[in-house]
Amino acid sequence: MTFDRTYRRGDTGPVVTEINVKLGVLGLLTGGDVVADPSPVEFDAATDQAVRTFQQQRGITVDGIVGPKTYQALEEARWRLGDRILAYVPARLMAGDDVAALQRRLLDLGFDCGRVDGLFGAETEHALRDFQRNVGIVPDGTCGPATFKALHLLTRTVVGGRPQAMRESEAINRAGPTLTGKLVIVDPGHGGSDSGVAGHGLDEAGIVYDLASRVEGRLAATGSTAFLTRGPDGDIDDVDRASFANAAGADLFISLHVDAHANPEAAGCATYYYGNDRLGHHSEVGESFAELVQKEVCARTDLTDCRTHPKTWDLLRRTRMPTVQIEVGYVTNRGDAARLTDPAFRDVVAEAIVAAVQRLYLPPGEDSGTGLLRIPALRA
Ligand SMILES: [Zn+2]
Repeated sequence: MTFDRTYRRGDTGPVVTEINVKLGVLGLLTGGDVVADPSPVEFDAATDQAVRTFQQQRGITVDGIVGPKTYQALEEARWRLGDRILAYVPARLMAGDDVAALQRRLLDLGFDCGRVDGLFGAETEHALRDFQRNVGIVPDGTCGPATFKALHLLTRTVVGGRPQAMRESEAINRAGPTLTGKLVIVDPGHGGSDSGVAGHGLDEAGIVYDLASRVEGRLAATGSTAFLTRGPDGDIDDVDRASFANAAGADLFISLHVDAHANPEAAGCATYYYGNDRLGHHSEVGESFAELVQKEVCARTDLTDCRTHPKTWDLLRRTRMPTVQIEVGYVTNRGDAARLTDPAFRDVVAEAIVAAVQRLYLPPGEDSGTGLLRIPALRA
């Protein structure tokens, strides 16, 4: 509706009745007689006082007069999260306390929707899709019953302090620099009957298992818990690896691979995270983590920087925690193969990866810069 006049003490009529009902619902006016009595109610001294209290609460000029601003605020204040389905409507943004509640919960859970402004804009939709993808419901950007339920369950979990629910950046920042209690899945790719790529006497499954063991030892030194997805000869597909991590309630997933190419000149390190620009799918923290891993590995080694890239591979898509897949060099390249053969090089890569994990959990102001963190292994 358009609201083009003001209402003040002494006025009557249906809009005044509506204003009284709204104030009653908010607990600012004893609403019993208002609801029971359908006849128009006067804008009396009690209404005036309730309007002033409301205006003070909402940061509106306190004058006891209901004009367009105060009326709009009353309209927004009546919505509770779950009352209606929320979606991004570019032509006319949905507004209300339910939108603000959604934004607060998304931020609490680490999904960056920008500021809490009670307006369902593009950023909120983006954060909501990211949340939906992370909890395994259809990422349609619409806040309906399945999303309300997931928000409710997860919010309770976070209040309870269980680390596995604190998935993304805000939660990570609040958790502080300690990795104690974090569960990190370290995934040596391939294995068993699938030995991965091969070249220069190296096989992928063997290299990445050794690398995973070195990462695991350093993670233990930081106080976090690390699980490997397979043993030295284990054979497991990517869907099962993701299910394992989801069932374990892991905080992070690191998949280790090496690459191969028909062109022996192809060389370097690349890191992948979940995303698809065309579909608008994107893991914010996955990307941040990938950037950290890529920077640390390239700063500490002389591997060519093949950058980070969004992909929709099963492992990245099905894991519900931030996940990266690192391709550490090409076994088909003479220089990279020589590096990968050297245990000291694998130690440097392992340290780089764990430094990236540590930096992901550091508050922005306390980050130490690329290449500086030193993490000793508890066991090599
Ligand atoms: Zn591989």
